[in-house]
Amino acid sequence: MHAHPAGPLHGGLQVPDGLPPRPEDVNAIDAQVWPAGAHRRDGVLVLGGAGVTDLAAQYGTPAYFLDEADFRGRSRDYQASFAGMDVFYAGKSFLSSQVVRWLDEDGLGLDVASGGELELALRSGFPPARIALHGNNKSVAELIRAVEAGVGRIIVDSLDEIARLAPIAAERGIVQPVQVRVTVGVEAHTHEFIATAHEDQKFGFSISGGAASRAVAAVLAESSLSLIGLHSHIGSQIFDMSGFGVAARRVVELLAEIRDTHGIELQEIDLGGGLGIAYTADDDPLRPQDVAESLRGIVEAECAAAALSSTPRISVEPGRAISGPPTITLYEVGTVKPVQLDKGTRLYVSVDGGMSDNIRTALYDAQYTCVLANRLSEVPAVAARIVGKHCESGDIVVRDLWLPGDVQPGDLLAVAATGAYCRAMASNYNLLTKPPVVAVKDGVGTVLMRRETLEDIFSLDVGLQPDHSSKEAQ
Ligand SMILES: *Cc1c(COP(=O)(O)O)cnc(C)c1O
Repeated sequence: MHAHPAGPLHGGLQVPDGLPPRPEDVNAIDAQVWPAGAHRRDGVLVLGGAGVTDLAAQYGTPAYFLDEADFRGRSRDYQASFAGMDVFYAGKSFLSSQVVRWLDEDGLGLDVASGGELELALRSGFPPARIALHGNNKSVAELIRAVEAGVGRIIVDSLDEIARLAPIAAERGIVQPVQVRVTVGVEAHTHEFIATAHEDQKFGFSISGGAASRAVAAVLAESSLSLIGLHSHIGSQIFDMSGFGVAARRVVELLAEIRDTHGIELQEIDLGGGLGIAYTADDDPLRPQDVAESLRGIVEAECAAAALSSTPRISVEPGRAISGPPTITLYEVGTVKPVQLDKGTRLYVSVDGGMSDNIRTALYDAQYTCVLANRLSEVPAVAARIVGKHCESGDIVVRDLWLPGDVQPGDLLAVAATGAYCRAMASNYNLLTKPPVVAVKDGVGTVLMRRETLEDIFSLDVGLQPDHSSKEAQ
């Protein structure tokens, strides 16, 4: 039997729509959602051995705090679980030079999806041979940089790109390894905006429409390109293996068709990323060991069915599954406003960041877990919404949650699992500066990315430079 959702004090009162069931303990730190080992010490949330009140005092808010041991544990877990296969971390989820060095140390590969991400990887000393370059509209400059640097694979995504890339490699006397990105017609069970393998979208070559076969032929016709395999990425925040099963079957069928048409058996398939993580207690992520075992089994069975002479090497590209869970965002509460609705009251809790440091709620309707982080409260939980300080009513960080009814200005709120696609998608909307990313280990913080300053932003505005008016007068 469940207690009344608004608690005994509110018996008979209504609750706004959309709220999850009231948690039994609104102060609880759910191990599934928070960084490994996170807990409360004297009421204060602790991650990586450091209390968030100390972290806030030292680094300010808003800020991202990354549990270093958890991040490295997850990347090593993927690397170990996928022994005999290749793991490429999807850099777009979160990238900094220190992250690049950790991945290098642990032997992972690295996916980049732009010239900027490629440059960061190269400047951080990542071995080019373990870099994969993605993108549906790579520029000539990006392709030249990748080819000259010796990037291990370029995942080609259009006939235009194949025609652009071949002469770039040829002129340099290089044979560039490439994979052809295909779409397999699977829509992963996820939010529409982040499903990428159904047919009506910009990525890849459709298998069913024959475009993939034509792209393969186009690559094979170029002596400066070496076709090493096929690539499929079916979406993000995926919680079951069935989509990967269908993708693997379609890709292996295409391998068999390529063997029959061209007399070659490609040696690699990349099944992309998209493994889901727990943003809330309702999410039940797959474990890397299970994913690895399952993928290997599926691909072996499909290859046997298609009578391929050997099983191709498999690679995967987890982004969020490595970078998401180890990081939290810490905010300070600024204003608290109860808003009376037809059905009960909603407590709007405004924090010192918002859609500029976490756009995912506004963009994808993403769900997050948030707790009062600087203290315990025994006051009954109320229906709340965490909002930012931007000039948009859609500036919501956590749409529907329960918070202790006495949350007040100056309190700290922590949002879990913000390591992926938050700092990476951060903006300067309303001229807010981007928060720092601080790695925490054994109770000690190390800044990975410092807080942006207004001077950083103003330095781009030519009219604000000290010598501007004098220059104009000349
Ligand atoms: C975004 C992306 C990934 C990573 O997705 P996650 O959901 O973060 O695991 C992997 N591969 C490709 C091609 C992508 O576009």
